Amino acid sequence: MTTQNYYEGVKHIVHISTGIETKCEHCTERIGGDDLAKSINHYIQQHGYKILHVGTETSRDMDGNPWQSTVAVLGK
Ligand SMILES: [Zn+2]
Repeated sequence: MTTQNYYEGVKHIVHISTGIETKCEHCTERIGGDDLAKSINHYIQQHGYKILHVGTETSRDMDGNPWQSTVAVLGK
């Protein structure tokens, strides 16, 4: 199956989210937060990752209101 081939050889996964600001695992680039596309592009272009999954995640904010964030999983 193509899905299996696609994931084959992936040995390392990173998980990024608009809800979490963090640093790139490989350099000092800021990852996550508002500009998720920029973070995804960074991992793809600078470190050779590919997108494995993009989706939304619902969590709760400090007042208990539903809060939606976009998440991406990249691997290489
Ligand atoms: Zn980086």
